[in-house]
Amino acid sequence: MAGAETKICPVCQVKIVPAPGGDRVEFSSGPAGTRAKLWARVCQFVDKPACINRDRGVIGNVTATDYYETKLPQMPGEASPPSEGS
Ligand SMILES: [Zn+2]
Repeated sequence: MAGAETKICPVCQVKIVPAPGGDRVEFSSGPAGTRAKLWARVCQFVDKPACINRDRGVIGNVTATDYYETKLPQMPGEASPPSEGS
């Protein structure tokens, strides 16, 4: 099982766990997702070279369901991005 180890994006602070059929991404809150979901929700916004989830070839197809669900009404102040403090 060499080469398959958990990585943590130093920019997004999100854990990427190697898994058969595609890496699993563990967000700081909520259910685990995919690299595409991580990119759609976090990495495309931070846009920093140190982010480890910027390779579109690895991320794969980003589908509409990977983005935040904008159909649902949002509670004010609840839908803040995972990054805190700056
Ligand atoms: Zn990242």
